[in-house]
Amino acid sequence: MSPHLEIDLDKITYNTAQVVERCHRQSIEVLGVTKGFGAIPPIVSAFIAGGVDGLADARMENILDLRKNGFNLPITLLRIPRLSNVGNVVRYTDTSVNSEIAVMQALGEAALSLDKIHNVVLMVDLGDLREGVLTQHVLETAKQVATINGVKLVGLGTNMGCFGGVLPATENLGLLVTITRAVEKYLGFKLDIVSGGGTSSLFLLEKEEIPAGITQLRIGEGILLGTDTSHNRIIPWLYQDAFMLHAEIIELKTKPSVPFGNIGRDAFGNLPQFEDTGTRKRAILALGRQDVYIEGLVPLDGKMSILGASSDHLIVDITEADDKIRVGDNIAFKLTYSGLLSASGSKYIKKVFRGGG
Ligand SMILES: *Cc1c(COP(=O)(O)O)cnc(C)c1O
Repeated sequence: MSPHLEIDLDKITYNTAQVVERCHRQSIEVLGVTKGFGAIPPIVSAFIAGGVDGLADARMENILDLRKNGFNLPITLLRIPRLSNVGNVVRYTDTSVNSEIAVMQALGEAALSLDKIHNVVLMVDLGDLREGVLTQHVLETAKQVATINGVKLVGLGTNMGCFGGVLPATENLGLLVTITRAVEKYLGFKLDIVSGGGTSSLFLLEKEEIPAGITQLRIGEGILLGTDTSHNRIIPWLYQDAFMLHAEIIELKTKPSVPFGNIGRDAFGNLPQFEDTGTRKRAILALGRQDVYIEGLVPLDGKMSILGASSDHLIVDITEADDKIRVGDNIAFKLTYSGLLSASGSKYIKKVFRGGG
């Protein structure tokens, strides 16, 4: 069989419902983030079955697909809009995250021309140094936003664990709430949304340490993979195997562990290094770097290990694994977030759905 991504929709719905229940218990709404799987419709439906309050994606292409496929929940654009694309943003999304006055002015004009009001979440940079206004500039920026016709400032948000690896904590999320209250006082109206990050904030949620006043989390990885890369952990109350990648063995032989002959560069121009571990049983799979981000694969069988890959071949050491494995069998892999991103977007990998009825 060609390489395929097996997707257990019931496990995704279960994971969603677990996250939603825990968040709602602490008065937090959940946006289901669809960019990790390219907004593939059956998976979006599994999110909705699990009770997400809205959808969110970083890419307008995915959001256009969501609307084309008839999903009519509120959608938030998670990446600051391109000045050149504000028309689509106001047409197809309800809310976008922002930090640039020029962009918000353009959003306002575009919204007014469609007789709409576009919601804006002002992003605050609490140290991760990706998007957002620095804390000392929030009041003045919020005041400017409040004067723009066609947009409505609905809240503040922050993003962490992405560029600088800064972790959400009671202190920095608490600061976001404090700043929100200060902005409300300064502007004289209430802000409904205080968006306190993504999967990396679930760690605090579990310990009930998310400060009161945080009203929203935007969750992708946790629901999809049951992992939290920022904290380098699995989330024990969620499934880790809703996605499984399968690829077929096309050669199975015992070979030395160190290449012989004159050694040049490998297929990608690197000088390979090898440790002599004797002869090993090696499976070559019909899967390569052209199909998927290989570093994002983890063999389901912990006794197997990935030795390397070229564009079309993946080499797996199966010496310690079940000796009944044969040519033509499939080997299963779990995926990291980057593995999932690449596999879901790959035209070479078939998507096979289980459950979801
Ligand atoms: C991708 C993204 C998320 C979701 O992150 P996960 O770690 O997958 O939960 C949340 N917020 C923003 C701004 C994002 O770009």
